[in-house]
Amino acid sequence: MAVVKANAYGHGLGPVAKALVGHAEMFGVATVGEAEELRSHVPDAPIFILGPALPDERLPVVTGCFIPAISTVEEARAYAALTGAKPLPVHLLIDTGMGRVGILQDDAVATAREILSLRGLTVTGLASHLPVADEDDAFTREQLAQFHQVVGQLRSLGISQPVVHVENSAGIISYPTQAGDMVRAGLMIYGSSPVPEFQPKLRAVMTWKTRVTLVREMPAGHGISYGRTFITPRPMRIATLGVGYADGYQRHLSNRSADVLIGGQRCPVLGRVTMDQILADVSALPQVTAGDEAVLIGSQGGEEISAAELAQKSGTIPWEIFTGVGRRVERAYH
Ligand code: PLP
Repeated sequence: MAVVKANAYGHGLGPVAKALVGHAEMFGVATVGEAEELRSHVPDAPIFILGPALPDERLPVVTGCFIPAISTVEEARAYAALTGAKPLPVHLLIDTGMGRVGILQDDAVATAREILSLRGLTVTGLASHLPVADEDDAFTREQLAQFHQVVGQLRSLGISQPVVHVENSAGIISYPTQAGDMVRAGLMIYGSSPVPEFQPKLRAVMTWKTRVTLVREMPAGHGISYGRTFITPRPMRIATLGVGYADGYQRHLSNRSADVLIGGQRCPVLGRVTMDQILADVSALPQVTAGDEAVLIGSQGGEEISAAELAQKSGTIPWEIFTGVGRRVERAYH
C-alpha cells in the first residue's frame, strides 16, 4: 500500500498517485475527503482509509467504494446498514500497542465474531500499526508476534484469506520477515528513511528550492530580521530569499541553526525566519545575485541538505517537514 495521505506527504497527491499506479496494489489515505480527491486521479485503484470516518462520512465511504478501517462494532453496524446488495469490504484494525484506533487485542476475537455476524460486510483485511518500530526493538518484536497470533485466532473464526498488514516504513526496513501480506509504505516511498543507516539505499524525491530576491552589502552592527537576534559583527553580504514559515520553512530554523545552498555552498540562515522571507550569509559568494537558486532541501554542487537534517535542526521529524511544505510552494514534476 502506498500511503499518500496529507497530499502525498506534501509532494502532491495527483502526480504521486499516478506515478505509483502499477507499483502499489492499494492506496492509503487518512480521510474520506482525501479518498474522494484520490479517486479522481486513480479511478480503478483500491483506496483504504487509515483513520475512522465521521458518522456522516460513512455513506460517502460506501458509495465511493472505499475500504474503511473498523475499530468498533458500532462502526461495523453503521456500515452494514448502509450497504446494498454488494457487501462492503472492510479491514479490522487491532490495537496491539499504538493506542490510537483499533479493537483492543484482548477483545479482538469477541468483537470480530460480532462483526462477522453482520450482513453487508466482508472482512477482507486485518491490520495493526507499529508505534515504535524505529525506537524500541523489544516492544516491536513482541508486538509483531502478538499481532500475528491474534491474526491466527481471527482466521480460525472463518475470515478467509484476509490481507494482513502492519508495517510502516520503519517496520519494513527493520522487520522485513514479519510484514504479513502487504506493507503500508509512507515516508520511504518519498526517499526518506526513518532508520538513518538505511538512507543510502533511498533517493530523495523532493527538492525544495527558492530564489534569491535581493542581495545587500550590510555594514557592521546592523540588526537582521525580527527581534534583532543577529547583529552583523562585520560588514556582510546578505541574501534575502523568498521563503518563510508560511511555506513550511520552520521558524525553529532561525539564527544560524540551518543552512541553505547557494552557488553550491552552505550559507547559514541569519536572524529569525519570517513569514515570507529568510536571510542568508553570502559573504563568501561575491557572484550571487537576485534570481539565483537557493536549495532548502536537496543537492547543489557537492552539497546536500536532507529533510532529515532540516527536521533534526528544527526539533521535528521528516514527516512534518514534508507535510508542512505550504500550498504557496509551486510543485513541478520531472
Ligand atoms: N500506516 C498508518 C496507519 C499510518 O498512520 C502511517 C503514517 O503515519 C503509515 C502507515 C505510513 O508510515 P510511514 O510514513 O512511517 O511509512
